[in-house]
Amino acid sequence: MKNFHVAIIGGGVIGSAVAWELSKYKLDVVVFEKGVDVCSGNSKANSGVVHSGINSPPGSLKARFCVQGNKMFQELSEKLGFSLKWVGKYIIAKDEEETNELERLKKVGEENNVPGLEILSGREVKQKEPNVSCYRGLWVPTAGIVLPYEFTIALAENAVLNDVVFYLETKVNGLKKTKDGFLIETNKGVFQSRVVINAAGLNCRDVVSMLEKPDFNVYPCRGEYLILDKEYSSLVNSMIYPVPVKELGVLGVHITPTIEGNILLGPSAEFIDDLEATCTTRDMMKTLMEEVRVIIPDIPEEGVISAYSGIRCKLASPSEGGWADFRIEESRKNPGLINLLGIESPGLTAAPAIAKKISDMLSDFFDMSLKDDFKTKRIFDKRFSEMSLDEKSKLVKSNNRHGRIICRCEQVTEGEVIDALSNLLGAKSLSSVKYRCRAGMGRCQGGFCTQHIVRVMEKNFDMDVKEIKLKSSESNLFVGRTRETSEEG
Ligand SMILES: Cc1cc2nc3c(=O)[nH]c(=O)nc-3n(C[C@H](O)[C@H](O)[C@H](O)COP(=O)(O)OP(=O)(O)OC[C@H]3O[C@@H](n4cnc5c(N)ncnc54)[C@H](O)[C@@H]3O)c2cc1C
Repeated sequence: MKNFHVAIIGGGVIGSAVAWELSKYKLDVVVFEKGVDVCSGNSKANSGVVHSGINSPPGSLKARFCVQGNKMFQELSEKLGFSLKWVGKYIIAKDEEETNELERLKKVGEENNVPGLEILSGREVKQKEPNVSCYRGLWVPTAGIVLPYEFTIALAENAVLNDVVFYLETKVNGLKKTKDGFLIETNKGVFQSRVVINAAGLNCRDVVSMLEKPDFNVYPCRGEYLILDKEYSSLVNSMIYPVPVKELGVLGVHITPTIEGNILLGPSAEFIDDLEATCTTRDMMKTLMEEVRVIIPDIPEEGVISAYSGIRCKLASPSEGGWADFRIEESRKNPGLINLLGIESPGLTAAPAIAKKISDMLSDFFDMSLKDDFKTKRIFDKRFSEMSLDEKSKLVKSNNRHGRIICRCEQVTEGEVIDALSNLLGAKSLSSVKYRCRAGMGRCQGGFCTQHIVRVMEKNFDMDVKEIKLKSSESNLFVGRTRETSEEG
């Protein structure tokens, strides 16, 4: 039976950040992720905002880890190679009454040590954001954007580079306490670990239930988004937020530029019963459009190219106001089980700071000596589509697979698809390719490139078509061939 010092349940941004942080130490660390790749849960389905820390009450864990995490992003982005832009954000007030809320947020931010906050007149906001009309705006310069899946993949692959073992498509079904740690039952066998870290996101309560009666509930709250085509990238320069909705503990429907030039509209906030119901709905799409048109009236409906949703892991019900702090604690009944509970927004921002907190907590169990050979790699290089003509021609000469464009919308080459499929985690779904090189993310949403990616999977990676999955263990794309391929293919 394989034995580890630390087992992490969940390969979202939290599990991956913890794995990377722990990979600096002389520890045997394993991550169990039930999805076909890391970032299969909420970590891919959010706004991608590196929050500044103005929205959480001073003294809360949310405020502390958000502000600390925010400060770590610049260095992490340079080291690990994921994209980051400090675009800043405006929270806009329609009238004097809402301006009081801007004053309150500014005060909260200042107490949380968020620098550079300024309340501007509507005219000053318009100078920076010509499409936005408002009475006043709170300018938050330290808010940024990332591609959340790039960030998570960069953390996870760097952890692999430093010998963390990731078991994908491996669901933890049971935990048993032993004298020296835990037995971990999965669909790929039984493992042993001294410490277990519960980073299972929305499933955090299920993991606790494997050992003890949880003292909390999870109230899933879905947030739906619309994605606008890159053609509309000049609509805003920064993020534009309304004054937060008080009742639900959420930030409200906002307009967010993405690293790639698309614009996100959302998220909605709807308490639901099903942890897995990541659907999008016609009604909510309509509501989202109405709400963003309060901020920018002529947002075009025909600009929407896709929609998605994420589910907030809330520990407070709507009747309790929807807001609860993060819980990061070792179980009293089962020492060695460290639970990360209710890691909703700003969890993406807080992830690197939470990971540091976990490594501090582990000094109660291990002597935490650093490795001598810890390595760091920039996982994402310059994309073909971003290169100059000269750079492109040099690349094609060195590897002619870059001479073939596979995804026309995003200008992704066959070479880039092969690189994506050769990732350190061994993830091989169509969405693993999409999140690593953008093939399938453009206006046609994979209509053109899917067949070509499938051909690369078969020819270069010897995959059987029946094994090829879209994005989850159950999402096989093909049942077989209608006819066998000829010698020529
Ligand atoms: C609508 C929305 C918008 C948001 N916007 C932002 C934002 O802009 N900025 C920000 O900072 N934060 C934001 N957040 C919060 C952020 O997305 C989360 O805090 C973060 O993704 C939580 O990461 P996680 O790793 O805990 O969860 P997840 O990403 O859900 O990861 C948990 C993982 O555990 C796996 N798992 C579960 N059970 C098991 C099991 N039994 N065995 C094996 N694996 C298991 C799941 O497959 C999953 O991959 C937003 C969240 C939502 C929903």
